[in-house]
Order: sequence, then structure tokens, then C-alpha cells
Amino acid sequence: MNDEALLRYSRQIMLEAIDIEGQERLLASRVLVVGAGGLGSPVALYLAAAGVGRLTLADADAVELSNLQRQIAHGMADLQRNKACSARDSALALNPGCDIRAIESHLDEAALDEVIADVDLVLDCTDRFSSRYAINAACRRAGVPLVSGAAIRFSGQLAVFDPRDPAAPCYACLYPPGEGGDEELRCAENGVVAPLVGLIGCFQALEAVKLLSGAGTPHRGLSTFDGMTGQWRHFQVPRDPACPVCAGTG
Ligand SMILES: [Zn+2]
Repeated sequence: MNDEALLRYSRQIMLEAIDIEGQERLLASRVLVVGAGGLGSPVALYLAAAGVGRLTLADADAVELSNLQRQIAHGMADLQRNKACSARDSALALNPGCDIRAIESHLDEAALDEVIADVDLVLDCTDRFSSRYAINAACRRAGVPLVSGAAIRFSGQLAVFDPRDPAAPCYACLYPPGEGGDEELRCAENGVVAPLVGLIGCFQALEAVKLLSGAGTPHRGLSTFDGMTGQWRHFQVPRDPACPVCAGTG
């Protein structure tokens, strides 16, 4: 790190749990963020600001006026632009030293495998169950940890799935496919209160910084937040021995 970097990251470096070594690990890390919407906006901005070395942002959608209520990486000048490109430009404005790549297409199974083979961590900031299952399966195949977030109406949740831990569950252990829990709940149809996506996205970014720098204890289980009451709840998530994705692996 040069003097400018030491100054830029000084408030993190002064933390005993991060220090120079943790910041160097962050600067050397490569992260994939799938989705550059409500969750992906704060994730991209905070991870770029915190000093993640290489960020790949993937989103096939274009910015619409109804997104601006909560997707704070985009502005009026970005309407109709691809969301990954718009979020990349916003994050680069914060930290031009970050290598930020935009993927403007939907990542199918083969594309996920290719991109995830070259990253240390994946953040799922999508709002479709089909994408969540595909990202989870690809992370299991590659042995790459996954920070999963979701937010709808006034409720949010976060979980970290780390296949490097042999006892850790995966997303499909928590939500077995085809058990009725995979009914689509999307902000476009159900609404979402603006700061909620910021809260959950920031929680995802925090867990990512911890995992990449080595600070603290990685999040275990499932955390849920009820914005109507301000209450957090925490649940253990056991590994499912019959899970269609992770049984017999790890
Ligand atoms: Zn599983």
C-alpha cells in the first residue's frame, strides 16, 4: 500500500481485527456480486469503498424510475442504462483504485461456473428463487462462500453459506426446492420500504469484509429482521443430509 492507500483505509487499518494484514487481504480479494439493485447497490458501494481489490457486478436489467426509490447506486442520469454498468460507475467514483467489472447479461449455469472459479466470495443480491438456487449450486461446486440477502415489504434476512466448513448448510438446506417456499416474492409485485434494502445490503457487505479480511466470526444460521417492530431474530440452520445440492459433498 502506498501513502494514499494507507490514508484511505486508515480507519479500517486501525482496527485490531483488520490491521494492515486484513486490509492487504481485502485488497487482494476478488468478489462477485449478482444483482445491482436494492441489495447490490449498497453492497457494491461499500465493498468498493472498503477496498475489495476486484469487484464483478452482474445484472442484465436496465435502470427504471421505480428503482430509484431504493437502488441508490443509480441516479436520474442512469435511467435506461444497464444496472451493472451504472453501479460500476458509481462505485468507481468512490474508489477509482478498485478494479470493477460489469457483466450486462444473465449468468446461466455455465457462466456462473466460469465467473465463480475466479473469485473468493459471492454475494447473492438477486430477488428470484431460480437465480438463488443456481448461485448456491455453483458456489457449492466451486467451494466458494456465499453471502445471501433478501428484502421484501418490511422484512429482510441474511445467511452465510460456507462450503469450506464441512458442517455448514447450503441455501437449499434452508429452503428445499419445490416445497412451496419457493413462491416468488419480488419487490416489483409486493413492494419494499426503501431503507430496508440498505440495511440488509450493508449487513451483507459487513459479512463480506469479515470473511475476506479474516476479522471476527463469520455469521452462522439465519438472521431475520422485521422492520415493522425493529426486531432481529436468529435461527440455527442445520445441514440437511438429504439436500439435493450439498448431500454427500464437503
Ligand atoms: Zn444443502
